[in-house]
Amino acid sequence: MKTGDALEMISLPVTCPICGTRSMTDFAVLVVATALNSWHPMWLFADCHPGSSWRASAPEILKLREFVGHAWLIDHDPGTTGIAKGATLPDLKVGRLPPMA
Ligand SMILES: [Zn+2]
Repeated sequence: MKTGDALEMISLPVTCPICGTRSMTDFAVLVVATALNSWHPMWLFADCHPGSSWRASAPEILKLREFVGHAWLIDHDPGTTGIAKGATLPDLKVGRLPPMA
């Protein structure tokens, strides 16, 4: 993503705390990458209840990390979180998922 581009978006699964509806909601890649890489606070929202948002809990962040995957985080690292520095998992070094066999 280059400076000046429109914000890149990613769809994430969220569960509305008000009505329990599960849905895919679009979030800015930059916000997601920062939150998932550095435990930065992240606010979630759901289309079923426009105008309401909630702060992602630790279990929610973990679920989102699992959903997004480490390879994606490397590909979309905004360059401010330094995930590559302390990365020890093999898939972090590769930077992307291995091709399907
Ligand atoms: Zn709802």
